[in-house]
Amino acid sequence: MSLFNFSAGPAVLPAPVLQRAAEELANWQGSGMSVMEMSHRGKEFMAIAAKAEADLRTLLAIPANYKVLFLQGGATAQFSFIPLNLLGAHKSADYIHTGEWSKKAIKEARLYGAVNVAASSEDRNFSYVPEERTWQLDPDAAYVHTCTNETIGGVEYFFTPDTGKVPLVADMSSHILSRPVDISRHGVIYAGAQKNIGPAGLTLLIVRDDLLDRVAANTPSVFRWKDQADNDSMLNTPPTWGIYIAGLVFEWLLEQGGLAAIAQRNQTKAELLYRAIDDSSLYANPVAVENRSRMNVPFTLRDEALDADFLKGAQAAGLMQLKGHRSVGGMRASIYNAMPLVGVQALVQYMAEFERTQG
Ligand SMILES: *Cc1c(COP(=O)(O)O)cnc(C)c1O
Repeated sequence: MSLFNFSAGPAVLPAPVLQRAAEELANWQGSGMSVMEMSHRGKEFMAIAAKAEADLRTLLAIPANYKVLFLQGGATAQFSFIPLNLLGAHKSADYIHTGEWSKKAIKEARLYGAVNVAASSEDRNFSYVPEERTWQLDPDAAYVHTCTNETIGGVEYFFTPDTGKVPLVADMSSHILSRPVDISRHGVIYAGAQKNIGPAGLTLLIVRDDLLDRVAANTPSVFRWKDQADNDSMLNTPPTWGIYIAGLVFEWLLEQGGLAAIAQRNQTKAELLYRAIDDSSLYANPVAVENRSRMNVPFTLRDEALDADFLKGAQAAGLMQLKGHRSVGGMRASIYNAMPLVGVQALVQYMAEFERTQG
């Protein structure tokens, strides 16, 4: 029986990537060394890192005036490093509050400066993205921070906000590389790797180079994007294994036809699952239809008392890690790039069967 892993993160990786990593684990391409054993400044690893960056630039069509950084500390560390690197002489930053992850970003930013919550969807329990025309943006803000896919609430942006001259910052941790994005409309894009890129421990950050000079004087060197950019992310030892696996994932994505092709597949998978939820009287998803995430699909059962049986049966059917986030309960199916269509088909089939027999 095939197993399908619906974990929100760390999450499923493409099977061919794991296979290749296994083959190369102890001896990378005849070098006699594991990637884990290589000097990050040796020619082998430098080639691995350079290829990973080049493939990522191809996938996302990253313009030349943007730096790509491979960092550590997770997206959570960037919640602090964003104000440290971007506030500069500005008095405050704008934040759009759409759920748990934007809330955490706001909390951290308040340690460094004033935060203006320019829009919030708290009035309807963070089940939608506030319409852009309602955002109370400050033209003097240092930046506008968005979380463009709320992993816990399952709320996704399907537009790129227009913030004028104020740089747009986007936490794309749980949907980066799921579809094409216009990088040039952003100041900073960042993502923890463990959702849609690779193993935990690697954080990707893409930053427009004119923003690198705003960094606060007392920012530690390894957390200064400028210093990391000047050192090709090798100011200190980078997360070499994470960069290697991410590079294999980027290669895999290129082989799949790139982001336009993967976006098509992601849309098909998500539509299948939402249709199954909407067509049933047992399952429900609370998110506004136009903001439903194609990566993270939370759903509840009509009666919470059925949750344990649902999860038990799912596991027996090879459908793993469907339990919802501890803060919201219910179920959550994360259907990242590496989740094949057959995995979603198996889930939908199980859901229908469960409804017929237990619902
Ligand atoms: C998982 C996640 C984070 C936190 O990532 P860490 O690597 O645990 O710090 C932040 N933002 C979003 C949108 C996430 O999905």
